[in-house]
Amino acid sequence: MPDRAPDTLAVAFPSALPRVLTGRVELELADALTPRLPRPQRVTAVLTALFDRVGGEAATPSLLWRLATGARAHLLLRAARAFFPARGWFSGRCDGCGGEYDLHLDLGQVPRSEPLEGYPLVTVQTSLGPRRFEVPNGLTEDHLSRDSTADRRTLAGLTGLSDRAQAEAARFTPGDLAAIEAALDEATPDVAEEIQSTCPDCGAGVSARLDPLDFAFPAPDRLDREIFLIARCYGWDEPTILALPSARRRRHAAMIAADGRRGAR
Ligand SMILES: [Zn+2]
Repeated sequence: MPDRAPDTLAVAFPSALPRVLTGRVELELADALTPRLPRPQRVTAVLTALFDRVGGEAATPSLLWRLATGARAHLLLRAARAFFPARGWFSGRCDGCGGEYDLHLDLGQVPRSEPLEGYPLVTVQTSLGPRRFEVPNGLTEDHLSRDSTADRRTLAGLTGLSDRAQAEAARFTPGDLAAIEAALDEATPDVAEEIQSTCPDCGAGVSARLDPLDFAFPAPDRLDREIFLIARCYGWDEPTILALPSARRRRHAAMIAADGRRGAR
């Protein structure tokens, strides 16, 4: 029987065209960031909210789900850079002394690995013979995040291209599973998810997990406040205000706030 067609798209670090940032896009972003969704769903929703095109195609959820995990991480960093200052500060807590430290962080300089030849596919010599696998994509991440018993066998079943991948995954030896996992790890182009530095207080090495979902995107309170100010002062309705480019909306709100402060003196 022939292998099934891979789901993972062959592009490792796709180009991306952001949507024009408006209040409506920011609201969609706020919805996407809701903590009740599993992380892979939040990533897909954030990317759908912020990008118009990815890799030259419409940035639909079905396209974004099929990107490799590293490609999704790459796009999330790209999206974060629209909000987080180009050279910003990132706070963490030191495991050595318990103190808080600030790390200088440039989201444009996060290290990444390059894809291997043959990407997104790998061939592994298993005890059942040579078998092909695809590097994990968003759908794989989503499956794994919903299955609390997921292990290397689950990964082999999900990524295997054999038409009997699930049944074969049950028969792989521990050595097969280790080889499959190592081959997929090596072949998956990735952006660093940990940054290494030293604690300024005690000098201990610190490693901070870098998740743009945790720190890079704005809380929606500011948008609510700006809508309130503009609606009260100009009498515009909410859809009109949400349709304004975000930079213009912020300028209007800042002028109204400054005028209010002058009036109060
Ligand atoms: Zn320390």
